[in-house]
Amino acid sequence: MPVIRDLWTKNFTKTDYPRYICPRCGDATLKLLLASIFESEDGSTSTNKSREEWEPDFWAGRFSCDFKCAKDDCAEIVAVVGRVTLSAVHGEDGLEHYSEFEPVYFYPAPNLIDVPEDCPNSVRAEIAAACALIRCDPASAANRLRCAIEAFLTNEGVRRFTLSKQRKYANVSLHHRIDLYKSKEPEFAEMLLAVKWLGNVGSHGEIALDNVFDAFDILEHVLEQRFHRTAERIRVLAGKINKRRGPVNKRTRRKR
Ligand SMILES: [Zn+2]
Repeated sequence: MPVIRDLWTKNFTKTDYPRYICPRCGDATLKLLLASIFESEDGSTSTNKSREEWEPDFWAGRFSCDFKCAKDDCAEIVAVVGRVTLSAVHGEDGLEHYSEFEPVYFYPAPNLIDVPEDCPNSVRAEIAAACALIRCDPASAANRLRCAIEAFLTNEGVRRFTLSKQRKYANVSLHHRIDLYKSKEPEFAEMLLAVKWLGNVGSHGEIALDNVFDAFDILEHVLEQRFHRTAERIRVLAGKINKRRGPVNKRTRRKR
């Protein structure tokens, strides 16, 4: 499923918060524990709030809180920290202020995309790191997705090093590795190249959150196609073996 962009871009309040996905069970079951919310004013608020021109909605600070999975057999806790500001609505007694929370860190971080079970751990670890960085440092998140591609290509048997004339090992660039992979899987290679370009932007400067989400979506599609295709191939192979009651290799004689 593509990244649910609203989930990762919106702020939340005590009464209106997104249905974050539990990093342990994968369901959208995280509930905000109101008693865990802790807010502190920031330095700017402390030093400026006594000034004449101060307005209540200038107030800003930091917060921490816990979300808990509502499923009893999971009960995972996710700690969240970030920035808090005051917003206001017109109530019966005039303006009523309420806290608006902007999450920056989640620990453990929920997954933004579905990663197939057969996906290698080396790729999974880079995606998990990208998920943890998405709100605090989108550029670094894009860069970790670039690392996920490197790990994916290694798993696919694409060489990482080359031997120079001086008999020294040198890294093969990611771009060249994707070119090498193109002869085997041209469609996947094209998609990986797109993630690489986005990762490059992350390495060299600012990148919009939406572009990082694009990279997540493309990578999820490649993994889904690649590893579910493996699952299908294994299912067909098992069917053939069972039908023959032995190896599928024609040169192998079956014992009856
Ligand atoms: Zn859970």
